[in-house]
Amino acid sequence: MKLVRTVSELRAQLDAARRGGLTIGLVPTMGALHAGHLSLVARAREQCDAVVVTLFVNPSQFDERADLERYPRREGEDAELAARAGADVLFAPSVAEVYPPGFATTVEVAGVTERLEGAARGAEHFRGVATVVTKLLCMAMPDVAYFGQKDAQQLVVIRRAAADLNLPVRIEALPTVREPDGLALSSRNALLSADERAQALALPAALRAAQALAGAGERSARALLQAAREAMRPFAVEPEYVALVDPDTFEPVAELAREALLALAARVGEVRLIDNATLSAAREPRTQGPREGAGAPAAAAAQARHDSTQPLEGEAMAICSA
Ligand code: AMP
Repeated sequence: MKLVRTVSELRAQLDAARRGGLTIGLVPTMGALHAGHLSLVARAREQCDAVVVTLFVNPSQFDERADLERYPRREGEDAELAARAGADVLFAPSVAEVYPPGFATTVEVAGVTERLEGAARGAEHFRGVATVVTKLLCMAMPDVAYFGQKDAQQLVVIRRAAADLNLPVRIEALPTVREPDGLALSSRNALLSADERAQALALPAALRAAQALAGAGERSARALLQAAREAMRPFAVEPEYVALVDPDTFEPVAELAREALLALAARVGEVRLIDNATLSAAREPRTQGPREGAGAPAAAAAQARHDSTQPLEGEAMAICSA
């Protein structure tokens, strides 16, 4: 695997592949690679002739200076992991290479960026994400770029920008890779103390509780969100937001019609974590008993309790790829 730091070196590396009609896959990351990132690299390896992993902690998408400063950086280890997962090129540019003096252009996606993460972190967050991903796509000009469903709203923003700007790239999304206990892998997990790591299980617990209730026939967003919030309480974690949204627009939905995304963010100690899961409506909606507030009828509640011990999508994957 070749480590390159400048756009011209990157282009030189990829020129021959492009001229030879080979396909190029791009995996943008901020480093501190884990099995979630490596699942993207592995898919790129399966599907493309040349695989580029980028390593760039993008300052413009951080809304908190402290978060940027303590973000884990481990380039040496990342290079080994990327090479082992099959990357051909690791592009690790400096901030000055990506944002040279005089840099003045940004990419701003309207609508979806105003909700949830955009509302919580401010407009500069998704402006930073859309700008840097567009730049990375222009630098590497891949045929396919790979992203994780873990950052579901980011994925929608990137799809929107790529479509609106007619970028000639296919955006491919992969499922969230989780620890065996359900915690979504995240570079920020490394910053959790042992106690905080245990508290962080509030996030998958909330997703499982809502999924179980949806599976038992509940369709009211209010009831599903209440179940998610209640499941977090034993962990003493207060969500920043818990929302049931349309997976394409991130507009809130009041009723689960077919599928919706349950998205949540919470601070555990100093570390801000996000997670999400798809909720699918059960074929038969719940018709008996109170729709919200006082809890599920006994059978549905028992079913929901049973279902809430079922794994979330991706939980098994971490075991395979660990
Ligand atoms: P990051 O380094 O956090 O910017 O993430 C780089 C890419 O890896 C993004 O497309 C993320 O959505 C993806 N990613 C992060 N965590 C996971 C995970 N647990 N499972 C799958 N993909 C992930």
